Amino acid sequence: MTAPTALAIVGVGKIARDQHLPSIARNPAFRLVAAASRNARLDGVENFATAAEMFDAMPKIEAVALCMPPQARHAIAAEALGRGKHVLLEKPPGATLSEIENLTRIADASGVTLFATWHSRFAPGVEPARDWLAGKTIRSVRIDWMEDVRHWHPGQDWIWEPGGLGVFDPGINALSILTRILPVPIWLTGAELSFPENRAAPIAARLSFQGPSDVTAEALFDWRQTGPQTWDIAVETDAGKLILSSGGASLAIDNGVVSEAPEAEYDGIYARFAELIAARESDVDVSPLRHVADAFMLGRRHIVEPLHDRAGDRH
Ligand code: NAP
Repeated sequence: MTAPTALAIVGVGKIARDQHLPSIARNPAFRLVAAASRNARLDGVENFATAAEMFDAMPKIEAVALCMPPQARHAIAAEALGRGKHVLLEKPPGATLSEIENLTRIADASGVTLFATWHSRFAPGVEPARDWLAGKTIRSVRIDWMEDVRHWHPGQDWIWEPGGLGVFDPGINALSILTRILPVPIWLTGAELSFPENRAAPIAARLSFQGPSDVTAEALFDWRQTGPQTWDIAVETDAGKLILSSGGASLAIDNGVVSEAPEAEYDGIYARFAELIAARESDVDVSPLRHVADAFMLGRRHIVEPLHDRAGDRH
């Protein structure tokens, strides 16, 4: 058996603690050896304030998982790849399409793996949905991705800044599933974006897409939903209707449940990262981010009421 890959993590926040650390601990292909964090320390590993200090002090680090917000990722990713480290990027892979192209170029030149993860693609219903849709004639798609931003993102100011994507931060998860399961390409034809008057990113978006042979797709992303949360994708085909619900965890065809399985998205991500490293390959699909970029280019902007995150917050 080959020795586990010496892995470091940068950005020890919500997703690192909730998902990355437990999945890394369960995967024998990796050994967490270090963390770079401005605020946190992890037990049992070396801790550094910055990624550069970490790379200088520990040349044995072979791979790094970057778990900070997208606006802060490119510089550290470029440095890690340039130093010959394999790099795993949280979603979205960056703040712009061009910076991801630059990372791909550096990864290729360095001969290392760059993995732009889309965690929702590892939801259990996604690959069975892709298999079922293959070869079918797609008629229409409807996405409803509606959740309560105050519940899921309390105090996360970066998400409202340029590059933070606003409601596209969850919405891009739906687009990552859609671009994986549809057997045909689609392109954005229109978008309505609702910006709170005190924020630089949208709180809601309505998107229209078209595809070959009159395929249409509509997506509604809304961060103002309280109560039950909705993460559904419905696809009408010539052979029946497919519904992926609960963010891809549950798959139903013509109202019969086909599969439902426990969530294990990040275990799937680290298994794939290990495969890519072993094969010296990269996996960088920017198609979900391209749809978001198109929505910002083509979208009509509406100003809506301000969003105050916390009591007393007058951001
Ligand atoms: P977060 O907790 O707000 O931030 C993650 C960590 O990134 C922070 O604790 C901080 O780590 C570092 N960081 C924050 N701002 C930074 C900056 N300006 N420059 C450098 N480092 C900075 O965010 P998160 O929810 O974990 O999300 C991080 C990424 O994961 C996002 O791209 C998000 O879309 C994705 N994601 C999140 C979730 C979720 O449920 N939250 C799910 C899937 C994917 P240090 O204090 O250690 O420096």
